[in-house]
Amino acid sequence: MSEVFQGAFTQQEPICDDGIAAAVRVMRHGRLHRYNTLPGEVSETAALEQEFATATGAKFCLAVASGGYAMGCAMRALGVRAGDRVLTNAFTLAPVPGAIASLGARPVFVEVREDLTIDLADLDRQIAASGARVLLLSHMRGHICDMQALMALCDGAGVAVIEDCAHTMGAAWDGVPSGRHGVFGCYSTQTYKHMNSGEGGLLISDDPERMARAIILSGSYMLYDRHDAAPPPEVFADIRYETPNVSGRMDNLRAAILRPQLRNLAQRGETWNALYHVVEAGLRDTPGLTLIQRPEKEQFVASSFQFLLRDWAASAVQDVVARCARRGVDLKWFGAAEPAAFTSRYDSWRYADPPKLPQTDRVLAGILDMRLPLTFSPEDCAQIARIIRAEVSAVWQAEDGIAREGTA
Ligand SMILES: *Cc1c(COP(=O)(O)O)cnc(C)c1O
Repeated sequence: MSEVFQGAFTQQEPICDDGIAAAVRVMRHGRLHRYNTLPGEVSETAALEQEFATATGAKFCLAVASGGYAMGCAMRALGVRAGDRVLTNAFTLAPVPGAIASLGARPVFVEVREDLTIDLADLDRQIAASGARVLLLSHMRGHICDMQALMALCDGAGVAVIEDCAHTMGAAWDGVPSGRHGVFGCYSTQTYKHMNSGEGGLLISDDPERMARAIILSGSYMLYDRHDAAPPPEVFADIRYETPNVSGRMDNLRAAILRPQLRNLAQRGETWNALYHVVEAGLRDTPGLTLIQRPEKEQFVASSFQFLLRDWAASAVQDVVARCARRGVDLKWFGAAEPAAFTSRYDSWRYADPPKLPQTDRVLAGILDMRLPLTFSPEDCAQIARIIRAEVSAVWQAEDGIAREGTA
């Protein structure tokens, strides 16, 4: 009987004891709303914002209800309006085009490359063709493009960059934290991301006027002076009258859970990468399987793992997924024709009227993806790699046999 992996790919770590104790304190005093403070009291939410700004080196930080809200808020603060076009990479998750559509704006999808990052040559073409003034760049599955080159291109074309860092919290490009290249960085603290408060989001920026807008948008009423990681009150002088309230605040309970996790973020990143390297080593030189090359400047946090079965027949990829599933290894395929679970494809977002993107289709047809929760041990990851290697090899040999028969 071949080995079967017993772990659960969706099981994250429990909330740490410090986080539980802090959450209980908030519940005992009952002031869950961020602006419900005693005289002189700094709310958990304001403290989290200050700490996240310090951790990323940003001047300002705003805690919000979700990562999707953070992206929508960033676009509104940049003045994106209904009918505007917003560029985004075609390999991403549904909340990204969804945030664009929530403003009545229209996503313009940009091709991705085999290293799973945005194709800068296509970005250049799409900027010219669309006239879009904003790029919502999704660092999908933690893969970061050459940020110097991207910023040079976008700055030169007058395109503002919003970074979707749902998968890059704690990561960096060439020493600069992910989320610090564009005008806004957006993060999610939903359960499957790098910090877990069930739902939640964070927004960072160095731009005082845009951040003042984001704060009013998030639902601060005239209580923006209770934000510590915020621009000074004079920046709000006119903005507070001009900016609608689109409530999406974070509450003190979530912030209390997150603050201790932020203190452990760097260490958790190291643990994730150790697991990643075990899987990578176990899959290296598997015939038919392509590992994703990662540049030296990319300081990633690998909370998930991707590999390519490049140019494989769909039936063979499905065979690998089914065989691995029987042995307890949960692989998601981004090439499936019908959207399933979180694996939606750009062409399933029909409201966005997506064009055909042949290069992205070819990449998506070959990507397999799995989570690496921190509840896994290095031994678990070695076993997972052995199972994938065995099943990929078995299907590859069978396919190879078919191909030989075909040419005989
Ligand atoms: C999860 C996710 C988001 C949005 O986060 P929510 O907090 O769930 O709204 C955005 N982009 C990507 C790539 C994500 O995976």
